[in-house]
Amino acid sequence: MNGLMMDQPLLITMIMQHAETVYPTSEIVSVTQDQGIHRYRYRDCFRRVRQLANAMQRLGMKEGDRIATLAWTDFRHLEIYYAIACAGAICHTVNPRLFEEQILYILNHAADRWIFTDPLFVPLLEKLQPDLEAVEGFVVLTHESAMPETSLKNAIAYETLIDDEPEDFAWPVLDEYTASSLCYTSGTTGNPKGVLYSHRSTLLHAMMVAMSNGLNLSDHDVVMPVVPMFHVNAWGMPHAAPMLGAKLVLPGPKMADGEMLQKLIVTEQVTCSTGVPTIWQALLDYLESSGKRIDCLQEIGVGGSASPASLFERMKQYGVSVHQGWGMTEMSPVGTFNRVRAAVCDKSQSELDTLALKQGTPLFGVQMKIVDEQGNTLPHDGLQMGELCVRAPTVCSRYFQVEGAAESHDEAGWLRTGDIATIDADGYLMITDRRKDLIKSGGEWICSIELENIAMNQPNITAAAVIAVPHNRWGERPLLVAVSKGEPVDKAEMASWYRGKVADWWIPDDIVWIKALPYTATGKLNKRILRDQFCDYFGA
Ligand code: ADP
Repeated sequence: MNGLMMDQPLLITMIMQHAETVYPTSEIVSVTQDQGIHRYRYRDCFRRVRQLANAMQRLGMKEGDRIATLAWTDFRHLEIYYAIACAGAICHTVNPRLFEEQILYILNHAADRWIFTDPLFVPLLEKLQPDLEAVEGFVVLTHESAMPETSLKNAIAYETLIDDEPEDFAWPVLDEYTASSLCYTSGTTGNPKGVLYSHRSTLLHAMMVAMSNGLNLSDHDVVMPVVPMFHVNAWGMPHAAPMLGAKLVLPGPKMADGEMLQKLIVTEQVTCSTGVPTIWQALLDYLESSGKRIDCLQEIGVGGSASPASLFERMKQYGVSVHQGWGMTEMSPVGTFNRVRAAVCDKSQSELDTLALKQGTPLFGVQMKIVDEQGNTLPHDGLQMGELCVRAPTVCSRYFQVEGAAESHDEAGWLRTGDIATIDADGYLMITDRRKDLIKSGGEWICSIELENIAMNQPNITAAAVIAVPHNRWGERPLLVAVSKGEPVDKAEMASWYRGKVADWWIPDDIVWIKALPYTATGKLNKRILRDQFCDYFGA
C-alpha cells in the first residue's frame, strides 16, 4: 500500500524557491575578474536566474541539452548552475585546467550546445573552436563593455544576454530523476568519464553535507567553498548554503592566494570553509609570515586528498578546527566526514588526535564496505585493508554514454572506488592509498599516504610524495620525492626519522629533492608525472 503523501519531486528548483522565500536577504559575495568584489542577495540572484532561463529558452535550449561552463567560482556561475538545471537542461562544468585535448574530448563527448566562458578562457576556446562538433554559440561571462575581441561564433556578453529578459519564468515540474549536471572525472588513465547527477541526487547530497554530522550549516553561517565550481558542484556548497540560508562567499579565480583568502575571511566574517589541503597550507604560510589572524573562522572541511597532521596542528594555533572528509566525483562528491561522535568521546586526547587524521564516518545514506582482491568482504577492525566500495542515492550507477558492463561496479551494484582503506569498529574510514599508488615490494603492499604523512612532519620538509619505482630485486621500492624547507636532510637522517614509525622494509630507499611537486588541476599530487620521471631511478 502506498502512503498518502504529496507527490512533490525533489528538485533543485525547491532549493532556489526556498532560499528566495525564507532567506531572501542572505548575501552572496563574489570575487570577480571584471568588477572586483560583487555583492548581492539571494532574491537578486534568483531573479537573474529566471532572466537567464528565459534567455536560454530564447536561444533554443531544450530539456536534456548539455550546456557547458568554463568558469571560476563566482555569482554568474552560480546563476548558470540553477538556470540550466531548473529549466530541465544539464549544466556541464568543464575543468579549464585540463589538457586541451581532454577539454576538446569532453566538450564533444557531451555534445554541448552552448558554452559559458570566463573571458580568460576565450583564447583557449578560439583554438578549440574548429574541432567543436555540437557548439552553436558562446556566452562570455562579463559586461558588454568588457567583451574581448573574439572570433568565437555567436559570442555574446552574459549581461547583454539576460538584460532585457522578463523576471518571471515558469519552472517545469520535472521528474526528480532528471539529469541536472555533468562533471567528468580527471581520468588518470584513459579518457575522462562523465558523472551525470540528477535533481534528486543533488538535493539529497546538499542535505547530507549540511547535516550536523557534516558541515552543520545554518543561516548563522558564512560559508566559503575554496573549491572551483568546475569541480564536482563545488562539493555541494552552492546547493547546501541556499538550502539553509547561509551567506555564501565565492572566492573567484585565485584560490591558492593566502593573502586574498585571509582578507576575504575577515571582511566577510567567514565561519566555515572547504578546500583541498594545499589551499590551507597556502593560507597558513601567509598567516605565519604576516602575523595576521582569522578569528571568525570556526572550522574547515578538508578533502580531495589526505590531510597531513601538520595542518591540524597549525590550524589549531588560529582556533580553527579541521574536519577531514572523503569523496569522489562519482559520489556527488562527499561520502564521509570526520566529527568526534558521542560514542568515541571518552577516548584520550592522543587517541582523538589520531582519529581526526582518518576520513570520518559515512554521511546519512552512504553504505561502505571493504573487500579483498577476490571481492570478499573484510571485517571492520581498523586493521584489514581492502578496496573501498560504496552505495548511496548520491553515487553514480554508471558513466555517461559509456556502453558495456562497467568494471567500476560489482554485481550487487557497489561502486569500486579504487581507494584502499580500513574501517574501524567505530565506523571510521581511513584511506591508506589509491589502488594505483600502492607500492608492491616483494609481493607485499606498502602504503604511500602513510609514508608521506610521516615525511610531512619532518621539520625540513614542506611537501612530500612517495612513489613506486621499479626495482630488480623487489619488483617495486618506495622513493621519497620531497620539497625542502631550509637544509635538505640526507638519506640516513630520513631513514632514522622513519624508524619506529613504520616497519623497516617500508622505509623509502632514497630521497630526491625537487623544487615543487606536480599537482593536478584539482590540487592533488600528480604521482603519474613523478612515476614517469623517476621510473629508472633504481636502474630496473
Ligand atoms: P580524480 O580521480 O580525478 O582525482 P576525484 O576528485 O573524484 O577525482 O578524486 C577522488 C579521489 O580523491 C578519491 O578516490 C581519493 O583517492 C582521493 N581523496 C578524496 N578525499 C580524500 C581524503 N580525505 N583523503 C585521502 N584521499 C582522498
